[in-house]
Amino acid sequence: MKEIVVSGIRPTGNLHLGNYFGAVKSFIEMQHNCQCYFFIADWHSLTTHPHPDNIRHNVKTILAEYLACGIDPATATIYVQSDVREVAELYLYLNMNAYLGELERVTSFKDKVRSQPDNVNAGLLTYPSLMAADIIVHKAAKVPVGKDQEQHVEMARKFARRFNTIYGVDYFVEPASYHLSETAVKVPGLDGSGKMGKSEGNAIYLVDDAETIRKKVMRAVTDAGPTVPNSPKSEAIANLFLLLNIVSDQTTCDYFNDQYNACTIRYGDLKKQLAEDISRFCTPIRERILELLKNDAYLDRIALQGAECARASAAKTLREVREIIGFRGN
Ligand code: AMP
Repeated sequence: MKEIVVSGIRPTGNLHLGNYFGAVKSFIEMQHNCQCYFFIADWHSLTTHPHPDNIRHNVKTILAEYLACGIDPATATIYVQSDVREVAELYLYLNMNAYLGELERVTSFKDKVRSQPDNVNAGLLTYPSLMAADIIVHKAAKVPVGKDQEQHVEMARKFARRFNTIYGVDYFVEPASYHLSETAVKVPGLDGSGKMGKSEGNAIYLVDDAETIRKKVMRAVTDAGPTVPNSPKSEAIANLFLLLNIVSDQTTCDYFNDQYNACTIRYGDLKKQLAEDISRFCTPIRERILELLKNDAYLDRIALQGAECARASAAKTLREVREIIGFRGN
């Protein structure tokens, strides 16, 4: 039997390079050898209170972007989270055994408490139990995610184990996070520090055109330049090199590294090359995204087909879970 894989992305904007190299690239690689469920996490996005029009627009966009990146609906199940109500039921059960202290200690929750003190809602607090439900509902063994999501997958393992212990069963599989490569697990932004993210305003989107990419890259934070040969790189420069590593070939990376080590580097040249290589990567995906977005009927069909398949898997789990808990299965 094929290994089961589950992962999702919140529809809060377009997919960026961080999403692609942290998660979607693994989706594409895994879809041929594993039984994959890739979803659009629209329930998760409700923590930010989006307008209904935005939800509809963003769900459609992510669906088109998944397909444009190369996720094959004939091989992988692509679905919208809110189409599978069983996930919400499992979330309820998991919440009964999730404790305030452990939820409050989750790093992403603590970050949100600091960054948005006026909107610390229960959905944010229980984000890890909803994510656990997303994963364990299909009994996934592997979850391809970026580094920022590792703690959430660890919580999913904990909740799966706890359910098994409480009910004395060996029912849920304990999922593990999966990373394609070390460099891709945390794609940096262009602002000198931290990771690339939608809310950080430092992202390059797969749908960005060449001119937008050029402008964004040319504005990226740098430093005054090295004055001593082979000196260590500042965070801003290390980030630019990390991006170069991700999108450019080895010869290009070596060339700019040598220039840096010899103190002859011109950051303008590095950025120009980086912008070109990012554009070369994004352009074909961008073209496919724009084409797919014109085809509502096709996108609807894919979402419907994915929902049916994901629902069948989730419904089976929930029938069994209800019986384990002591409820009627149906
Ligand atoms: P999000 O956009 O926060 O819903 O994240 C969707 C997926 O993209 C998750 O698997 C994240 O771990 C991954 N991801 C988001 N930003 C980055 C980043 N800068 N580097 C690597 N992975 C990322």
